Amino acid sequence: MAIPFDRSFDAPFGENIALTPRISRVLAPNPGPFTFKGTGVYIVGAGRDAAVIDPGPDIPEHVEALKRALGGRRLTHILVTHTHSDHSPAAAPLKEWSGAKTYAFGPHGSGKAEEGVKVEEGGDRDFVPDVRVKDGEVIAGGGFTFECVYTPGHTSNHMCFALREEKALFTGDHVMGWSTTVVTPPDGDMAAYMASLRKLLARDDRILWPTHGGPVKNPKPFLEAYIDHRLARETQILACIAGGIETIPEMVARMYADVDRRLHPAAARSVEAHLIQLVGEGRVVKDGTRYRPA
Ligand SMILES: [Zn+2]
Repeated sequence: MAIPFDRSFDAPFGENIALTPRISRVLAPNPGPFTFKGTGVYIVGAGRDAAVIDPGPDIPEHVEALKRALGGRRLTHILVTHTHSDHSPAAAPLKEWSGAKTYAFGPHGSGKAEEGVKVEEGGDRDFVPDVRVKDGEVIAGGGFTFECVYTPGHTSNHMCFALREEKALFTGDHVMGWSTTVVTPPDGDMAAYMASLRKLLARDDRILWPTHGGPVKNPKPFLEAYIDHRLARETQILACIAGGIETIPEMVARMYADVDRRLHPAAARSVEAHLIQLVGEGRVVKDGTRYRPA
């Protein structure tokens, strides 16, 4: 089953677009192959107080646009789903401007720290949340109540936030309506990622709001297709190995022949993430750069 992607999303940069009576979005000017049209920063609140989810990149005109969008409201909470450079850096100037506290699972790599794993370069290593939140914790403010839903996989510190008032889940990069997400080892973890997808499938959120692109309005079939897609990739990898295609570059060339070549390095990391899972489960054996049936 193909994933029912919707790539029709478009919005002007820097304008505050109302989505529901409680939620609006400001698009940051950082479009690209991984960010789609740019980082969509959500502003949540019904009255005087507001929360921001994933403030985005620290680009001066973007930060000014967020301040304009907040207007006379009081920013009390800055929630961060994870510490990639298109999500968390603008937390610093927004915090300095507003005095709001920042909330996240932890700094970059914190979900893997206990295992002694050193994570990849490229995360926002300057971000350290004021408040470290765990799965199931509630963040309540004026007109909004968020439940924290820990979803490691894309990164080890990835957190989704469920807005109880609207049965809406802010999914960061865990689930996106326009694309699959990138899982890059060692901080990214395919086994954890699959478990985090199944965790959302067991919930009854009415709508998903990813950080990039438009909403997912029918979560369950979308999540099922998202999971099936990964299982199909796994099957393809096992078929490659069974057929004597034993290195990651050869597998990518075979499996992603119809995908934009700019995305092939990311595809290679996703294939590696699957292979780490398969080795971990004892289904595949690693021999240098080659992978063989167990
Ligand atoms: Zn990310």
